[in-house]
Amino acid sequence: MFKRYSITFWATVFVTVVCLSLVALDVWRSIDARSGQLQEMERLSANVARAMAQQADDTIKAADTSLADIVERIETEGQDGKVLARVQKQMAVQVENLPQLVGLFVYDERGRWVVNSRGVLNQAYNNADREYFIYHRNHADRGPHVGNPVISRSTGKWIMPVSRRLNRADGSFGGVVLATLDIDYFRRFYQSFDVGARGAVALVANTGVLMLRQPFDSERVGGSMRDSELFRHYAVLSGAARTGSAFLHSFHDGEVRLNSYRPLEHYPLFVSAALSREEMLERWRRDTFTRSVGVVVLAALIGFFGKRLVDQIRLRAQTEAALREARDALESANRTLERQAMQDGLTGLANRRQFDVTLGNEFSRATRHADTLAFIMIDVDYFKQYNDVYGHSAGDEVLRAVSKLIRALTPKRPGDLTARYGGEEIGILLPNTDIEGAQAVAERIRLAVEQLQMPHSGSPLGQVTLSSGVATMSPKRGVHAASMLVEAADKALYVAKSAGRNRVCLAPPVDD
Ligand code: GH3
Ligand code: MG
Ligand code: MG
Repeated sequence: MFKRYSITFWATVFVTVVCLSLVALDVWRSIDARSGQLQEMERLSANVARAMAQQADDTIKAADTSLADIVERIETEGQDGKVLARVQKQMAVQVENLPQLVGLFVYDERGRWVVNSRGVLNQAYNNADREYFIYHRNHADRGPHVGNPVISRSTGKWIMPVSRRLNRADGSFGGVVLATLDIDYFRRFYQSFDVGARGAVALVANTGVLMLRQPFDSERVGGSMRDSELFRHYAVLSGAARTGSAFLHSFHDGEVRLNSYRPLEHYPLFVSAALSREEMLERWRRDTFTRSVGVVVLAALIGFFGKRLVDQIRLRAQTEAALREARDALESANRTLERQAMQDGLTGLANRRQFDVTLGNEFSRATRHADTLAFIMIDVDYFKQYNDVYGHSAGDEVLRAVSKLIRALTPKRPGDLTARYGGEEIGILLPNTDIEGAQAVAERIRLAVEQLQMPHSGSPLGQVTLSSGVATMSPKRGVHAASMLVEAADKALYVAKSAGRNRVCLAPPVDD
């Protein structure tokens, strides 16, 4: 598989994979960071909601305990002056002790002031029109009632009314005991939470009335939130599901926030702590943007330099291929030259140079191994005449044909060599061969040429023939030279010519 594609292909794949991995890794990291950010946000808002619910429960509970006490006292001890004086004192102490408590009040069945924590009864005020008063007059239940927030008639401050019903001995409506809680007390507590510049917290009645919101909005406090996404979402939940969180559009400013809501344990209210999604993700976005720019620049750099690298590799591969080609061409040219340098152009036999080298080598080898070295010198008969009669080119043809025949009939053992020795003289070197072996080879050649019956009108024999001189030698160091073998064969050839040609003559053994 690696072999099938080029190195540049794999280099390109590598660079691409590195760039893509870098980008993919960054995308994955960003997604992970985003979900981490949202989880962190949810944890934070849930914690704020828990603290708010706890504080509201405790704050209302403390005031409500006082109310239950006063109700019990008035219903058992009646409403004569002494009792009321003691109740008033008790109320004053409670208001003194509880910072959230603005005042405690008792009204009769027509809304007139009976006693309060301040000890001053202003008969000009009548509270029969207040929501909580109407509620108790119409409802027989004895539990606490958390009313809608109102601006106090006596202090002008925003207050949260918490009240209980007073019964007469016969069970009929006897009035209302009221505690007013300072909305500012809650606000101060809510201000201590860091919910970001665009976050918000709220305390809402289960009826949908907004008790308090931070950032504070006096227009909305006491108003209905029944149409808000938060209320619609919360109202359909029940049980444990009422503690949770959701991304919702704000009723107040349209902002999308993660709202963590939670009911109060003892009172029909719930709290919500909301963090702005935009604000929370802004930091993430900034981080992601900076990082992404970095990653893109890095990927671009890697891509750019990677491409240059790949180009370099490609160039190198091309250069290498070109070099290889040039080298091959050179080698083949060398081989041709070498062959040409050692070969005879006309006959295809070894040339004189190669013959001389081989003769030298074989002579040394035979000397070392005490072997016999045979040499046959062949010469075409009356060749000058052939040229004269048939022309030089026809003479060349004869030389070629004779050479082909000789090549076919010469043994091909290592060391055997057939060479064009001179003009129309061919030498055959046969190492490790005795005189009879060499004679047989020479005779075979002579006979074959004779049987070719190439016409030669210039020859008394009427056809092209050969004469050969055969010599052998067992060369001894310091006694013989290679030239002696050639001379001996040459002499034998001369004898063959003198004896009438078309024959093989043996040289007498070459001795010292
Ligand atoms: P002999 O029978 O005594 O050998 O007579 P010869 O005519 O062959 O005499 P010699 O061997 O001395 O003559 C060699 C001649 O061979 C001389 C030359 O014209 C001819 N010759 C040598 N080389 C070539 C060649 O390459 N081509 C041709 N066509 N002729 C050549
Ligand atoms: Mg000759
Ligand atoms: Mg000749």
